[in-house]
Amino acid sequence: MKLVEHPKSVNEDITLSIIVPVYNEQEMLPIFNHHLSKALSLLLNEHVEVIYINDGSTDDSWNAMSNLTNHYADIECINLSRNFGKEAAMTAGIDNARGEAIILLDADLQDPPELIPKMLNAWKQGFDVVNMKRSSRLGESRLKRWSAHIYYRLLDHLSEVPLQKDVGDFRLLSRRVVDDIKKLSERSRYMKGILSWPGYKQTTISFERPERVAGETKWSFFQLVKLGLSGITAFSVKPLQISTWVGTLISTSAFFYGLWVVAKTLFFGETVAGYPSIMLTQLFLGGVQLIAIGVLGEYIGRIYAETKGRPIYLIMDKQSQKNQNGMVKKHG
Ligand code: UDP
Ligand code: MG
Repeated sequence: MKLVEHPKSVNEDITLSIIVPVYNEQEMLPIFNHHLSKALSLLLNEHVEVIYINDGSTDDSWNAMSNLTNHYADIECINLSRNFGKEAAMTAGIDNARGEAIILLDADLQDPPELIPKMLNAWKQGFDVVNMKRSSRLGESRLKRWSAHIYYRLLDHLSEVPLQKDVGDFRLLSRRVVDDIKKLSERSRYMKGILSWPGYKQTTISFERPERVAGETKWSFFQLVKLGLSGITAFSVKPLQISTWVGTLISTSAFFYGLWVVAKTLFFGETVAGYPSIMLTQLFLGGVQLIAIGVLGEYIGRIYAETKGRPIYLIMDKQSQKNQNGMVKKHG
């Protein structure tokens, strides 16, 4: 197989950065680190760093991650000042990664570390992005699987950026893609869209998404709906256009209906029958208008958040550890 040269990175040394956002995963961290070590033991020739980002956990995750050791990788722990959300935590990881390639991984083993060598191979063949497609999602409710299925297709249809269906945040990105992603400074961070935005040479590997090993999902139904809406508004203006089209359609039909009413009165002398039909149109139009204003408001709210230009996350502490000699240096 032909090796394709990748552009120079910030640090020639590190081949792979693995980014792991962590929120209340104290019981998961040792298990995860163990599985990760096993997977990395197959990559002895590569210099790997693992970046754990503690996203304001309320449990003991920060201590748990600070005490992890790994024979096959350097470990960098980043402590955010509070819970900023998974999207912000991943952004902190991307900003701090120094590898030629990076992989985003959940801490709950739902993104199996065993696939890392396969992903790295695809990158070495010259692909910039390795998308990990969920061929099945074990242990998730039928409603979640079904709504995810519909949502990915709806978003792909609405979005101006081509998005990969059934691909989550679990991906490998090459240094040039990472550098381009770092230029996207938007506050409304829908990572699945942001990660797809640069394009470049893509490949897809399918995998069965296993159940979470311990702990529980951090997303409530309403948080998922919120994330879903933020994906649509961040990557499409079609809802605004749809409001315009619905408005046009309704006013055109109202115009022709008006002509018909006038004609009926003039030629047949019929008086217009009253209350129920007026009530119905009033309510219907009132509803349509409120929806349209709501859609407009969603976008204005996002403009407001963007203009404030607040940082996406704040780092409170950092701690790093070399793989072999166990040297610990603290700063930050
Ligand atoms: N996570 C995070 N911040 C949050 C919520 C989640 O960093 O506010 C992390 C979490 O620790 C895990 C990953 O994001 O490593 C995925 O979360 P989860 O497993 O709850 O999501 P699901 O797999 O259910 O979609
Ligand atoms: Mg999970």
